[in-house]
Amino acid sequence: MRTKEQYINGLGKMKRNIYFDGNKIDRTDELQMDCLNTIGTTFDEAQKPENAGLLTATSHLTGNTINRFTHIHQNKEDLHKKQDMTRHLCGIVGGCIQRCMGIDATNAIYNVSYEADKMNNGKTQYHENFKKWLTRFQNEDLVGCCAQTDVKGDRMLRPADQPNQDAYVRIKERTKDGIIVSGCKVHISEASVADEVLVVPTRSLREKDKDYAVAFAVPGDWDGLKQVVTIHNLRKREHFPRGFVPGSTDSYMIFDNCFIPWERVFLCGEYQHGGVLALLFALFHRHSYSGCKPAIGDVLLGTAALAAEVNNIQKAEHVREKLAEIIMVTELGYAAGYTASDLGKPEVYMPGMGFVPYGPGSYIPHSIYCNVGRCLTGEAVYREQEILCDIAGGIPATFPHEKDFTNPETKDLLLKYTQRNPNMPVEDQAQFWRYLGDILCSASGGITNIGNFHGGGSPIMEQIAITSQYDIESRKELVRFLAGMTTKNKK
Ligand SMILES: Cc1cc2nc3c(=O)[nH]c(=O)nc-3n(C[C@H](O)[C@H](O)[C@H](O)COP(=O)(O)OP(=O)(O)OC[C@H]3O[C@@H](n4cnc5c(N)ncnc54)[C@H](O)[C@@H]3O)c2cc1C
Repeated sequence: MRTKEQYINGLGKMKRNIYFDGNKIDRTDELQMDCLNTIGTTFDEAQKPENAGLLTATSHLTGNTINRFTHIHQNKEDLHKKQDMTRHLCGIVGGCIQRCMGIDATNAIYNVSYEADKMNNGKTQYHENFKKWLTRFQNEDLVGCCAQTDVKGDRMLRPADQPNQDAYVRIKERTKDGIIVSGCKVHISEASVADEVLVVPTRSLREKDKDYAVAFAVPGDWDGLKQVVTIHNLRKREHFPRGFVPGSTDSYMIFDNCFIPWERVFLCGEYQHGGVLALLFALFHRHSYSGCKPAIGDVLLGTAALAAEVNNIQKAEHVREKLAEIIMVTELGYAAGYTASDLGKPEVYMPGMGFVPYGPGSYIPHSIYCNVGRCLTGEAVYREQEILCDIAGGIPATFPHEKDFTNPETKDLLLKYTQRNPNMPVEDQAQFWRYLGDILCSASGGITNIGNFHGGGSPIMEQIAITSQYDIESRKELVRFLAGMTTKNKK
């Protein structure tokens, strides 16, 4: 397994294809350091002996000890540990740990490449190729990101019907040595700091969309790939540092007639499996949310409770109600993920068929519980911000900048007027308001909220999954009986 320094050194050797605000930058540019330190935590923590059970795993391919972020889930225990690892690490950095896209995409492709080969009766070697790629990914302890979301053009048109043929990433040409792809994936988190980019389709596909059924993996600096990145850093502090300074990035990934050799292609035209891959990545990713959102819930709960304490209103009835609300959403999200892990099987839900065996035997979390948990916690994001805003009052919005707290002309006056709870040092109260300003009032805070709401699929996507997979008919039948109705279910 690598150290954080080895990970950063590796990125330093990559070609420059990252564009930020009109300039080309190195991956190790100072602007990306907060993000690198955040992902770097996954390396640092995995080195600690006390974390070995949770943060490392044994590769089913090589028997080597690997970072769990590169592991394929072999049983329910692995699913539980992935959820708990995510909650643990997100807690340490106070937000998204940013390495889950890779584990979620590898687990999805691992299964789909196997099924696509089966359908092709041995004419393709997607799965063997993927396993070779995966062995290197595990042995070198690489960071993967997942490029799923396409620009999608007109939302009411499906891929092949779009006036812009590249509105979804597509296969432009098939050659003896590989394929040529073009298109653009958007909002791709941590692509600018990832070693490898895993590309999967966005949505279910029809036969005429077959050129959009494509999955592959390439290094982040691959020829023909340009990344235009947005970097989300908090306002720099000079005098009153935070305990941990998180950072994140999201890229537009433009594939401009990009050549992908066959050994890196894991799906090419099998439109039936393109849709399954889209759903399966989303499913694994929604399961990851059942680890990260509870961690964010932990942070929000601590923040709300401290805001109440600083304001000395911690015993007020409305505060108790609001803290209870955060706890309920947090732990229901965790419970949904726990159940999804516990009911995990090598099965997926197929419309009209129900749950059917799928893939070479690795474990897939239960779909209903992944979707229920993600939707519940995703929709709660802005309500949680409302609770923080309510308990805090207006102070995070207008709290003076840090140098006003070092300037001898204003320092003592500001501390005098910051004092609220007589039992807490006023310097700590000031430090808390700076922290809450980062959450409620910064650009990074706003971006985090949108990511927590839409990432892994907007709530409508989970609602579609839940209602199309849930057995609503049997519930109607139950009520027909209870109500004494005479009609039977229409099957
Ligand atoms: C911070 C952040 C990080 C992200 N990270 C990643 C990542 O790492 N990898 C990745 O692949 N993706 C990532 N995403 C993308 C995320 O999965 C998408 O934002 C999400 O799936 C919604 O897609 P969209 O943004 O294109 O919204 P849209 O699809 O444009 O949705 C806008 C609205 O239109 C509605 N709508 C869309 N299509 C239809 C339709 N056909 N009929 C009716 N209504 C429709 C939606 O329900 C919604 O209300 C990230 C997003 C954010 C904000």
